[in-house]
Amino acid sequence: MRHMAVLPVVLLLLGCLTPNGSAQEAVAAADLQYEMDVRLDEDGRTIQADLVVQWTNTGKAPTSELRWHVYNNAWSGPQSLWLQEARRHGDRSQPKVVGDTQVEQVRMLTQGEDLPLDWNYQSQPGAPLDRTVAITPLPKPVAPGETVQVALRFTAALPQAFRRSGWGPHGYLHAVQWYPKLGVFEQLDGQWQWNCEPYRYLTEFYADFATYQVRLTVPERYRDHLVATGSIQGDGPQDNADGTVTYETYAEQVHDYAWTVDSNALLMEREFHAENYRDEQQEALMARALGKTEEEVRPSSTRMILLIQPEHEGLADRYFDAVGKALYYYGLWYGSYPYPTISCVDPANDARKTGGMEYPRLITGGARLGRLATTMSPEGVTVHELGHQFWYGLVGNDEFRHAWLDEGFNTYSTARVLEAGWPPELETWSVFGREVAGRLPMSLPSYDEGELRSVLDLTRWESPDLRWIPALSYELRHRHDLERLFAELPPITAFPRVEKHRVTDNRRVMDHDWTEPLQKPTMDLLNSSMRRVNAYRRPALTLETMGRLMGEERWARVLYRYHQTWRFKHPQPQDFLDILLAEGQGAEVVGTEERVTIDWQSFWKHAYLENDRLGFSVHHLRNVPAPAAEDGSARFTVYAGIRRVSDFAVPVPIRITWDDGSSTTHVWDAKTWTWDQRFEQAPMRAVRLDIDPERLLMLEDDWLDNSLQLDADDEISWDMGIQVMLWAQQVLQYYGGSG
Ligand SMILES: [Zn+2]
Repeated sequence: MRHMAVLPVVLLLLGCLTPNGSAQEAVAAADLQYEMDVRLDEDGRTIQADLVVQWTNTGKAPTSELRWHVYNNAWSGPQSLWLQEARRHGDRSQPKVVGDTQVEQVRMLTQGEDLPLDWNYQSQPGAPLDRTVAITPLPKPVAPGETVQVALRFTAALPQAFRRSGWGPHGYLHAVQWYPKLGVFEQLDGQWQWNCEPYRYLTEFYADFATYQVRLTVPERYRDHLVATGSIQGDGPQDNADGTVTYETYAEQVHDYAWTVDSNALLMEREFHAENYRDEQQEALMARALGKTEEEVRPSSTRMILLIQPEHEGLADRYFDAVGKALYYYGLWYGSYPYPTISCVDPANDARKTGGMEYPRLITGGARLGRLATTMSPEGVTVHELGHQFWYGLVGNDEFRHAWLDEGFNTYSTARVLEAGWPPELETWSVFGREVAGRLPMSLPSYDEGELRSVLDLTRWESPDLRWIPALSYELRHRHDLERLFAELPPITAFPRVEKHRVTDNRRVMDHDWTEPLQKPTMDLLNSSMRRVNAYRRPALTLETMGRLMGEERWARVLYRYHQTWRFKHPQPQDFLDILLAEGQGAEVVGTEERVTIDWQSFWKHAYLENDRLGFSVHHLRNVPAPAAEDGSARFTVYAGIRRVSDFAVPVPIRITWDDGSSTTHVWDAKTWTWDQRFEQAPMRAVRLDIDPERLLMLEDDWLDNSLQLDADDEISWDMGIQVMLWAQQVLQYYGGSG
């Protein structure tokens, strides 16, 4: 075994390198330590490593085994649970070149013992040959508070880029889920046990916060072409005699470790300083909400690192801008990003399947040339993945069961950052670098990955990654001829369109079926469409609705407190509810004079435990002439009615607009099914009825039935209706009188 003596160094480093963390957090992180000596083969895809894990049982029960995630084995062949589930979900894709992890040696290092241990894979129901969870039985149980040290030697061959991980044929390697990683020993279903699920189709990851000391030895061509979860120690890599270089890296309080090399990519670095991204209004809000000064809520500095494809060099500013704005807003709302570096990878064209993912301190974005300049690519994906540093990276929920605690909170936050950081603008169509307002009158055909139209605007052709065409990336030689041709075209881009509102855009999820409640464990959901609904936009709208109902200052406190309470920990949905109940207690519906408090238990029941959609609709608005006032001016009796159309009862503001333009707002607690009001002796007609005029209820199913406007025609016909009634009355009286 190489470098078994490095652990004391880790302990030493803990003292001096804790970034903005308290001493207590550093001790917690030290309960789990990974020390790895890693060598990347000349082929750029095979990793050989020695790993020493030191694990302290922080639970309240002993355990006589360790459980490991060995997720790289999901790509070893069609027998893996992931690929079996993929087929069941109608996804027949497979890695073009498979990968797997072989563990060659497992040994116990505790207290002078040096025991060989077993390494058994856990058979999974429906996929008996799955090898993504391994168990090592221990010679004697580890009691609470006790520590064990285990050494592993393994070889991991990564797959050709497939579902988040792998390599591209031209020098790119994105190493994720590449090493055996311990599960979480915790209380689950009422008993202390390993929470260590196999790699499943609908879920991502879950592990404990740890300290990582990782020594990466890579072929010389990757010098200055490497980014990692850990900070690079010293002045960069050391040269070795055998044509390799070695990077010493270090990270703490992270629950995973990823790294990327790309011999073609460019490496750029910039400092993040909050001063460059000031938003006075949001700073003032957070200062008010937290009782701090604006100086105190402003996020602290960190170093931004970008590994970007050479053909995307022109997008570097936009990548940095997206990372910077996201660090600023997330840091402002939830507390500063606490690590010394954040790395962002623009994946190689022939390995785009590794794009759009998040790992602690390392994210992958994605961009394609030839896209509309205002399509928010790469900004949209970059902000979202950066946001995961906060929701998943720092607040480390169980993604097997509660993906909405990271994806939902992050989708909510992403929309807000995009809305705050990039004001809506007119879409433009880029024709060989020239921006033309508007967009094409129709969409050109697009492929599963990559758009055909992207070929129009390239210096380097990024072909769609189709199975029957090998992925290509080459200089487009006849660019100038094509450019001339397109420059001659008449301005066909004559349909101006403003980028949509990013928060409201999450309401697209209303078009989908909500077959299963938010509380259903993510890994057991019906299909990936249900996962997209329940993990992303639906919880985002739920959070948006909570915030709008209770008002931004109180809501800012709820999110900040929840984040800070659960930073470097593993919250459950109940933990969020507890903070919602504590901070939201007594909250009244904002923006109205009538004071109606919100029952958050009831809200949670409908929104989370049950599967209720939220809906109200206008029923009627009528003005009936009443006897005139003493001074002869007209008087009306006004009838207004609203219906609740689902079980989801939540207070809702209702606005009546009067003939002179004034309005009155009421709040209905919606505990009954209908709101039926009669306004006697009204001095003028009501002309409009609006349910939730300020759109607090972002979860409301259908906004089209929320308003009723009585236009002039209605009034005329109504007047005629009155006349007919009066006439009928007279007729009846006449006949009645004569009969
Ligand atoms: Zn996400």
